[in-house]
Amino acid sequence: MFRDRIIDALRDPLRPAVSVEFFPPKDAGTADTLLRTARALQPLGIDFASITYGAGGTSRDTTLSYGGALVEMGFPLVGHLTCVGHSRDELRALIRQYDEAGFSGILALRGDPPKGQAVFTPHPDGFSHAEELVGLISGSLSKRFAVGVAGFPEMHPEAVDEQSDIRFLAQKVAAGADFITTQLFLDNADYFRFVELARVAGVGVPILPGIMPVLSLKQARNFCGFCKARIPEVLVSELEACGPDEEAQRKVGVIWAVNQIRELIARGAPGYHLYILNRAESAQEVLAALRS
Ligand SMILES: Cc1cc2nc3c(=O)[nH]c(=O)nc-3n(C[C@H](O)[C@H](O)[C@H](O)COP(=O)(O)OP(=O)(O)OC[C@H]3O[C@@H](n4cnc5c(N)ncnc54)[C@H](O)[C@@H]3O)c2cc1C
Repeated sequence: MFRDRIIDALRDPLRPAVSVEFFPPKDAGTADTLLRTARALQPLGIDFASITYGAGGTSRDTTLSYGGALVEMGFPLVGHLTCVGHSRDELRALIRQYDEAGFSGILALRGDPPKGQAVFTPHPDGFSHAEELVGLISGSLSKRFAVGVAGFPEMHPEAVDEQSDIRFLAQKVAAGADFITTQLFLDNADYFRFVELARVAGVGVPILPGIMPVLSLKQARNFCGFCKARIPEVLVSELEACGPDEEAQRKVGVIWAVNQIRELIARGAPGYHLYILNRAESAQEVLAALRS
């Protein structure tokens, strides 16, 4: 429904695009948190929201239902979709359901191997790489969805080398992606280098930097360990200097994110994607600081 609004926001040279990422809640308590967060952020000029997809369809119903709730609140919505455990027919059916639920975009992903499996094994009638899912969406429904793909400023953990990772990124875009959202990174130098390599490889679409306001050193170590993102030593020292005071650590995370975003925008990034972990407070503070 809002496909063009998403693409126009990402291409607006005068105003940075802002997106926020939710994950589908597992129970009533966390569902309430998501809905409260969404209501708190909705009036703050967010251009679009996205909602993640659990490995192997584990969140199929909740991605659809909470994605639908975000659409009803007025967010142009990008639904994430992975190839894990799905046949092509199942993926086609899911894409139709995303359309019926009013989603305006799809972040087309391969997905990680399910827990307990070391390597990604495609469904016998499914896809091995995100590029093929992009092709499926672009082939049938390209006019209905803004299609995004993932990019990795510090290289995808399974990639053989940086060159091939960038080449495959360029192939995903050539298959029909309208934009790239990056994995979180805490050192802007990684983003600038990644963008430069992508441009040299012929990637012309907006590359939206993924920013996570760190909540605490413990949270950052967990999360960054999971996505293999580096935590700069300076940030570690600033967080350590707060001692056990988690609120002080969260404030350090907000300031770090604001400084990252200011530099990214000043040097040409099309906007920023906030990994908000379904929490409103840090996102509100980041947005307020950037607009002051
Ligand atoms: C912004 C963002 C959002 C995410 N959201 C989710 C989510 O909602 N749910 C979830 O489960 N996961 C999510 N992920 C994680 C993602 O699914 C994993 O990082 C996954 O391991 C890779 O997905 P991809 O789409 O980048 O895969 P691909 O682009 O397929 O790449 C995977 C690996 O294969 C290589 N490769 C790519 N194409 C080819 C090719 N044609 N031939 C050979 N090798 C190739 C790449 O270099 C890379 O190493 C997200 C990641 C990001 C950055």
